[in-house]
Amino acid sequence: MSWEQLSERQPRAVKTLTNSVKKDRLAHAYVFEGGHGTGKMDMALQLAKTFLCRETTSVEPCGECKDCKRIDSGNHPDVHIVQPEGQSIKIDQIRGLQKEFAYHGMESDKKVYIVEHSDRMTVQAANSLLKFLEEPTSSTIAFLLTEQVHRLLETILSRSQVVSFSPLPPEQLVKSLQEEDISLPMAAMAAALTSDKSEALEICRQEWFAQARDKVIQLTEELRTRPSQVFVSLQDNWLSFFKEKDQLDNALSLLLIWYKDLLFIQLSEPEHLVFVDQRQALEQQALHTSQKRISEKMLAILTAKQRLGANVNPQLLMEQLVLRLREG
Ligand SMILES: [Zn+2]
Repeated sequence: MSWEQLSERQPRAVKTLTNSVKKDRLAHAYVFEGGHGTGKMDMALQLAKTFLCRETTSVEPCGECKDCKRIDSGNHPDVHIVQPEGQSIKIDQIRGLQKEFAYHGMESDKKVYIVEHSDRMTVQAANSLLKFLEEPTSSTIAFLLTEQVHRLLETILSRSQVVSFSPLPPEQLVKSLQEEDISLPMAAMAAALTSDKSEALEICRQEWFAQARDKVIQLTEELRTRPSQVFVSLQDNWLSFFKEKDQLDNALSLLLIWYKDLLFIQLSEPEHLVFVDQRQALEQQALHTSQKRISEKMLAILTAKQRLGANVNPQLLMEQLVLRLREG
């Protein structure tokens, strides 16, 4: 990883951090907050390298020296990573850290510690860490990583510099899913449903979502070609498959994405399509409708989603929705 590569994902955070390095004004404690898969750990390790590398005078660590290589391989004696043991981070783990830091550094006086899921510290652990933060030494940097910043103690936040990590833009999430051997249609669908990478991966790996996607395509085809049959297939193919409320909610989200795709076809912006492999079907359907009608249908789906949340009977809800989707 280089600062430049990290900058593609988190330009703002990189700018903040590299500016501090240039001005020689690194904080003693950082809170990196943002969703899973946004690169918080990569960023912490990169800054640790810049901080500990003795071969570089610029922002970029050399990547070749013993310090850089040891950080890359995860066994630098002055870089400590604390992770939850079971559900929480316990006071003994923080005490262990403090003990380590009471000694002089093995290689230099500089030390770095990274606490993953720092919001999972027990109250005792957090208070113990707080004492640590209250007595900063210029040679120590703490990184507290969290996906739930509101769960950190106010007193910890006030002693730290908080850096926010933005969710991955959909195109980048699609790209990084494809790097994990996910097909483009599935990656595009998952990225349309969530900006969280681990959640997206889970969606892609569940056979259920692939089937749900097919059901949605099938329903829109039937609405166009066999509108009189659609109530029968609603019973046979749809309600029997989307039995649970959250399953139906996902189905409605996919349906909404389908109509959004139709709109992109009408607007001649196919580069935004989520159902990338369905362009022909979308173009066929787009011929028989207008932008105004598509917007009305999208509104009907949104209303159905709200009513589902208010516990309306799923069958009734779908029948009413299908009536509105069928017209024109
Ligand atoms: Zn180096």
